[in-house]
Amino acid sequence: MPTQPLANLFRPEVLSMSAYHVADASNFIKLDAMENPYSWPEDIQDRWLETLKTCPINRYPDPTGRSLCASLRRSNAIPDHAELLLGNGSDEIIQILLMALAGDATVLAPEPGFVMYKQIARSLGLNYVGVPLTAEFELDLPAMLQAIDQQRPSVIFIAYPNNPTGNLFNAEAVKTIIAATPGLVIVDEAYAPFADCSFVGELGHYPNLLVMRTVSKLGLAGLRLGFLAGPAELIAELDKVRLPYNINSLTQATVGFALENGDFLARQTQAIREERNVVAAALQALPGLTVYPSAANFILFRTEQVPADQVFTNLKTQGILIKNLSGQGGLLGDCLRVTIGKPDENQAFLSALTASLKTAGD
Ligand code: PMP
Repeated sequence: MPTQPLANLFRPEVLSMSAYHVADASNFIKLDAMENPYSWPEDIQDRWLETLKTCPINRYPDPTGRSLCASLRRSNAIPDHAELLLGNGSDEIIQILLMALAGDATVLAPEPGFVMYKQIARSLGLNYVGVPLTAEFELDLPAMLQAIDQQRPSVIFIAYPNNPTGNLFNAEAVKTIIAATPGLVIVDEAYAPFADCSFVGELGHYPNLLVMRTVSKLGLAGLRLGFLAGPAELIAELDKVRLPYNINSLTQATVGFALENGDFLARQTQAIREERNVVAAALQALPGLTVYPSAANFILFRTEQVPADQVFTNLKTQGILIKNLSGQGGLLGDCLRVTIGKPDENQAFLSALTASLKTAGD
């Protein structure tokens, strides 16, 4: 330990934070983190390993990821006028963006939303304002407009679809917010592979709109790659804060390869979408649950008769790990979130859930 007290070394906001907790998933059926459950077909794996042989890992990676950017542009239909910023996951993009803001800046996001917006804003000592969604998890437009007017946020994050609720907000409400905001609006499309709507087509229509995406939910979570698309002059400022070699060579080569051979990922995504319908219908058929509509690869549901904590623990004893959001309280009281897995994993989850609701009712 240093001889100086920690309070002299670290900022108070850091000392008061808790580290982001990731549950130990060993030996569980893992349905907690919105991952794609499928591995790669063997022939694709063989070809990928061949390409890695030529990856020059003795050299620093391409600092701009030029070839990877070209693949990302193609596969995400990014318009030519938009520039890209690459991040070590979209988590890092959020960090880069917030690190570049003025020290007294305010960051705003609807809540419940993705927790890293608040976590990173707080860790950097920025003001953070959460504006509650309505009881149906829709944007509360008057409340958002009032908060924009009063707080003058430098950045607003809107996840589309939203995590942890899974729904797509009303697109017209999002556009109204973008038009009313003097600062930047980041539409976070982490779950784009599972939704049919996007703001990528709106890039260029608003000077303050940027769209953030990731390859994590598509099936490449282990590679850590996200990107932000938006006006060149904004991306140029953010790029000054980015560390030069933040995207390693293996990630650049592998994501590029996967996107260029992307049919198998599209098939996997389609399978997950179909399973989402199966799981949603099965959940709706269970008594005592409220199931929320999802345009993502997970489903949020509320236990109405049994405490969610009890159901969560009971599922764990049956070897199933999902996400318990109940502790966050507010609109998420008694809410659980399940990621869509393979059909047999989903069936195991549904049987375990049925059993745990029954046990609790006995
Ligand atoms: N945005 C949203 C809405 C998310 O849910 C997540 C991950 N759970 C991320 C961003 C971060 O994704 P990654 O860092 O893996 O790119």
